[in-house]
Amino acid sequence: MRHIIVVGGGAAGMMAAVGAARAGAAVTLLEQNEKTGKKVFITGKGRCNLTNTCGQEEFFEHIISNPKFLYSAFFNMDNRGIMDFFEKAGCRLKEERGGRVFPVSDHSSDVIAALNRQMEKEGVKVWLHTRVKKVLTRGMADLWQEEGPGAGKKYVTGVELSDGTRLKADAVIIATGGKSYAATGSTGDGYLFAENAGHTVKELKPALVPFTVKESWCMEMQGLSLKNVSVQLKCNKKKIYEGFGEMLFTHFGVSGPLILSASSYYVKKCYGAQADLTIDLKPALTAEQLDKRLLRAFDENKNRQFKNVLDGLLPSKMIPVIIRLSGISPEKRVNEITRQERNDLSGCIRRLTMTVTGTRGFQEAIVTQGGVHVKEIDPSTMESRLMDGLYFAGEVLDLDAVTGGFNLQIAWSTGYLAGEDAAKKRE
Ligand SMILES: Cc1cc2nc3c(=O)[nH]c(=O)nc-3n(C[C@H](O)[C@H](O)[C@H](O)COP(=O)(O)OP(=O)(O)OC[C@H]3O[C@@H](n4cnc5c(N)ncnc54)[C@H](O)[C@@H]3O)c2cc1C
Repeated sequence: MRHIIVVGGGAAGMMAAVGAARAGAAVTLLEQNEKTGKKVFITGKGRCNLTNTCGQEEFFEHIISNPKFLYSAFFNMDNRGIMDFFEKAGCRLKEERGGRVFPVSDHSSDVIAALNRQMEKEGVKVWLHTRVKKVLTRGMADLWQEEGPGAGKKYVTGVELSDGTRLKADAVIIATGGKSYAATGSTGDGYLFAENAGHTVKELKPALVPFTVKESWCMEMQGLSLKNVSVQLKCNKKKIYEGFGEMLFTHFGVSGPLILSASSYYVKKCYGAQADLTIDLKPALTAEQLDKRLLRAFDENKNRQFKNVLDGLLPSKMIPVIIRLSGISPEKRVNEITRQERNDLSGCIRRLTMTVTGTRGFQEAIVTQGGVHVKEIDPSTMESRLMDGLYFAGEVLDLDAVTGGFNLQIAWSTGYLAGEDAAKKRE
C-alpha cells in the first residue's frame, strides 16, 4: 500500500487526503494549526460559498490565471461532483444569487465537519500542530546510471517536521495555500518547498483585494456603501474590467464585491500602475432620463439653493463631494443653473472617476495571484514534472479566480485529482 503525506489541512489538502484514501492509499495529513480548515471557516463571511452552479464554459471564464490548466482536474471533479460529494457527506446545500452554493445551515463549520468526517471514514490520519519544514528528496542517479532513464530527475522520499522528525512517504502533496490572511496558516511555506525542488514560483501578488485611491474626496465618503452601480476600470486608456454590483468607500480608497473582482484583473494586467476607476451611479437611467430626473428635482425646488436639492438623488455622504466636483456653486439657486452646468452635474453622476494607485496587501487579499508555475506541473495528475512523487494542489499553484465559489472549486478539483493520482501511481 502506498503511503501518501498531505501537507496542509485546508480545502485542497483535506480533499486530496480523501481522494488518496478512497483510491486505496494510507494517508497522513499534516496541519500546523490546532484544527483543519481555518481559512475555509472564514470563507463567504463565515457561510462558505463552496462552489458555483454555472456551466463549464462559464466556469472557466471566471478563472483569472491559467484556466486551461484546470480542464482535467475540473472534469475529474467538477462543481456538480463537489455538490454531490458534500450532500453525500451530510452537508446539505443551497443555491443563491449568481449560482453561488452555500451550506443550508449558512455555517462554514458544516463544510469543514463534512470533510473531517470523510477523512475519518476513509482512515486518514490527521496530525495537528505539525509543521513541515522540508520536503525530502533523492536523486534518481542514486538508483540508475547517470545517462539512464530519469537521470538527473529527483524523487520524493518524505518530509521533515519542524522538530526534526522525518517521515517517509511514496508521494507528498503540497497543499499549503497562498500568502493571504496568514493568520489562518497560509504563510507561504509551499512556495519554498517548490523552489527547493527546482520549481519556478511566479510573482506573488495580492488579489481580490481593495484598491488604494489618490483623490482625498474618496476618503470623505468612507463607510458609504453603494448598490446597483456599474464600474469601469481603465489602465493606459484600455478597458480591463467592467461590472455591476456593490461597492464601498473606505479610509484608504474603495472595496466591496465589485472592486474585489476588478482588482484581480488589475493585478493580472497592470499591477503597480495607476488606473482610472469610473463609477456610474445611475446605470439604469439613460442620459435623457437622468436629465429629466434632474430637471424635475430642480423644478420642484425652484427657489432653493443647489446644495439642498440632491437629497432624493444621491446618498447624503456623497452630496458635498458631487457638488464640489460639478463646479456649481452650492449656494446657487437651482432656477439659475444653466444647461451646461446640468450637463456637468450629470457627467459627475455618470462618470465619477478616481485614480487607483495600487492595492492593499496580502493581509486583506482573498487570494494570492501567482504561485508554482503550472508549466512545471502535469495538469492531468497535478504531479511535478521535475520531481517524481511531488504533487501540488490548491492556491499554492498559479491559479486564481474571481469571487463566487470558484477559488474553492479550484482547491477541491486540484486536491482530489492530486490525491487520486498519488495513490494510484505504480511503484
Ligand atoms: C476572507 C476570505 C474569504 C473567502 N471566501 C471564499 C468563498 O466564499 N468562496 C471561495 O471559493 N473562496 C473563498 N476564499 C478563498 C479560499 O478560501 C481559498 O482559495 C482556499 O481556501 C484555498 O485552499 P487551499 O487548501 O489551497 O489553502 P488553505 O485553505 O489556505 O489551506 C492551507 C493549509 O496549509 C497549512 N499549512 C501551510 N503551511 C504548512 C506547513 N509548513 N506545515 C503544515 N501545514 C501547513 C495551513 O495552516 C492551512 O491550513 C476566501 C478567502 C478569504 C481569505
